[in-house]
Amino acid sequence: MGGVADGGMGIVQLVGAGPGDPGLLTRRGFEVLARAEAVVYDHLVHPRLLNLAPAGAERIFAGKRAGHCAMPQGEINELLVRLAREGKRVIRLKGGDPFVFGRGAEEAEYLRAAGVPFRVVPGVTAGVGVTAYAGLPVTHRDAASAVAFVTGHDDPEAPDPKLDWPALARFPGTLVFYMGVRRLPGLCRTLIRHGMLEFTPAAMVQSGTTAAQRVAVGTLADLPIRVAEGGLSPPALVVVGAVVDRREALSWFEALPLFGRRIVVTRPADESDRSASELEALGAEVLPAPTVEILPLHDFGELDHAIGRLDEFDWLVFTSGNGVRHFLDRLESSGRDLRALGHLKLAAIGPATAEALAHFRLKADLVPDAYRSEALADALRGRVGGLRVLLARADRGRSLLKDELNEVAHVEQVAVYRNADAAALPPEVVRRLSEGSVDWITLTSSAIAERLHALLPEEARRRVGREVRLASISPVTTAAAARLGWPVAAEAATYTWDGLVRAIVEVSRNRV
Ligand code: SAH
Repeated sequence: MGGVADGGMGIVQLVGAGPGDPGLLTRRGFEVLARAEAVVYDHLVHPRLLNLAPAGAERIFAGKRAGHCAMPQGEINELLVRLAREGKRVIRLKGGDPFVFGRGAEEAEYLRAAGVPFRVVPGVTAGVGVTAYAGLPVTHRDAASAVAFVTGHDDPEAPDPKLDWPALARFPGTLVFYMGVRRLPGLCRTLIRHGMLEFTPAAMVQSGTTAAQRVAVGTLADLPIRVAEGGLSPPALVVVGAVVDRREALSWFEALPLFGRRIVVTRPADESDRSASELEALGAEVLPAPTVEILPLHDFGELDHAIGRLDEFDWLVFTSGNGVRHFLDRLESSGRDLRALGHLKLAAIGPATAEALAHFRLKADLVPDAYRSEALADALRGRVGGLRVLLARADRGRSLLKDELNEVAHVEQVAVYRNADAAALPPEVVRRLSEGSVDWITLTSSAIAERLHALLPEEARRRVGREVRLASISPVTTAAAARLGWPVAAEAATYTWDGLVRAIVEVSRNRV
């Protein structure tokens, strides 16, 4: 991008990350992030968004966390210029919208002065996104025809406040204050002093669009007390005006079945995105923490050999969607196509695997009722007697299927992809697990349970199965967790991801 247009110089994209929910990133933001070479991000940016950048991209934290100093603005500016001069595609990922109270304009001015090209990708600002998730429309035909975004940084009771408070008190519409938690009492007093009615509806929304969203509702006169009682803390918005009364009819996010639940998804990265979306649609916040990675084989020799001898087999058996994808990709790159499978019967361990086959327009001849190796072995046993079976699988895993079927058939197994252990969990996930702010962890295989156990620090490990509940995809996985000393709180009735999600919803409904 920058390279072509600007003679080797990189480019900085100022990208709005939205207010919290990673789903609120724009499509353009998604595209540029996927091509980033360096990402400089703030502290309110969700880990799911950082995962969208390529694995090799530099990730630089430039925000402030409670009690710690932010990287000074001057340093951030210089960092952006330096990275761009190295020729990189730089993403400056900022909470909400870059030009709304985000100092994005200052950064852009600095870049312009330094001769660094930049683009701006707008984001959903908190004043629009957080309010929407709290059921607070910022305008309404019957309630507000204007809206003002106002900084809460200004001390309204200082001798010479920067803002025109009398004008704000007369504003004919909704007032939305950013950064207003600390000064809330002074802010309310000042608006009243300048003539706003004491019973004007007012609300505060903390951590909107995330699992930590909390709302306090009152009037200008009593909101500070309600906020103190509720113990609300930054980041939060203050909304003042008649639209606050609409919340009762319009609140929706907090009513979702998994609202407020923070769920760590330990599936491999290539599966976790779709899995996360399903949980998020139910209101949960998802933290991805892949414990194993799915990778191509180092050496394709054996697989190519098996593909070359497909006509020697009668059945081809898949035990995962990854197996299907990697096998068929390799078949294609070996110069053959689906006709090479024409004579084969196909078996899939469960619906997700059958779905992966369907994606390639292939129909599974056999899918057992219970989705586990034992059931697949039982179902196959009666059909493969005396026949030749090829099992396409990961380079490691249980060998139960082969052992069982060997008694009745001629079985060969071939690795079609590789399972590699993740070296570490994302630090953000470990931090949240250790401080106890995670509600659920999903376990989708025994190997994942074991790997998770190995990767967790002792402090976090002790919380698992207690404050942090475990959701297991099957009895086999539940047993593996039990061997690790971890009781499982929810187990899927059908051994699929959807079954696991349903189990979490069920348990969450019963135990608030
Ligand atoms: N550029 C950002 C605002 C940065 S200033 C935007 O466009 O949204 C930071 C302030 O934004 C916080 O103090 C808070 O008032 C507000 N804010 C950001 N995210 C928020 C969230 N999830 N919930 C409530 N307020 C939020």
